[in-house]
Amino acid sequence: MKITILSLFPEMISPIINSSILKRAVNNNNVTFDIINYRDFSQNKHHTVDDTPYGGGPGMVLSIEPIYHALLSIEGYKDAHKILLSPQGKTYHQDKAKSLLQYDHIILICGHYEGFDDRIRKLVDEEISIGDYVLTGGEIAAMAIVDSVVRMLPGVLGKEDSYINDSFYNGLLDYPQYTKPRVFEGMEVPDVLLSGHHKNIEEWRLKERINRTKVRRPDLYENYLKSKKSQ
Ligand code: SAM
Repeated sequence: MKITILSLFPEMISPIINSSILKRAVNNNNVTFDIINYRDFSQNKHHTVDDTPYGGGPGMVLSIEPIYHALLSIEGYKDAHKILLSPQGKTYHQDKAKSLLQYDHIILICGHYEGFDDRIRKLVDEEISIGDYVLTGGEIAAMAIVDSVVRMLPGVLGKEDSYINDSFYNGLLDYPQYTKPRVFEGMEVPDVLLSGHHKNIEEWRLKERINRTKVRRPDLYENYLKSKKSQ
């Protein structure tokens, strides 16, 4: 997969794609990143990329021209899936992350300041929000999307694609995990996990996933029950 990120602050992005599993994914050629700074596409001598809003009001608005020219500079931009990061977009979730795996090339467009000239919305395929709160810029939102998608690319998490057991993947939250020591400050690891009995462990884990989901996320639990009924 190729991921191009358009941003005014590439320095916010580099440390994340150069760490941990994303770094490994780059080194193993599971993903390639290209980070483009709008400022390189400013058409004026002061290299500005923003301006005051028509009609007045606080803050600065990212102009359409540098974003447009930055987009056009990307090889294959027409066929790429273009996503605008915005608090006004559809809320991101695991199913959306899964569906983004179908694209060979994703372009993520990060806003900043008060946002962008609204005409940018005509140039993209969809608008995604990572939640009902407002960030300073789209970079953190873009990184949340990148991380959640790249970890599901084949081979990125190693031979076993462990993400299929993670929360949300199959509509349930994950089961409780423990590691050594067996007893800590009087708190014990459940006996079944020490039994070596794989079938019992699997049954216990499924029961815990269902109970946890029921208690913590009744909305997901309802959907889980519905999907069970329709099977
Ligand atoms: N005035 C805009 C509004 O209320 O819709 C908010 C602009 S915000 C300060 C600046 C940029 O941060 C946005 O253009 C967007 O790219 C990004 N951003 C902020 N919150 C976000 C969220 N919840 N999800 C995705 N991107 C977000």
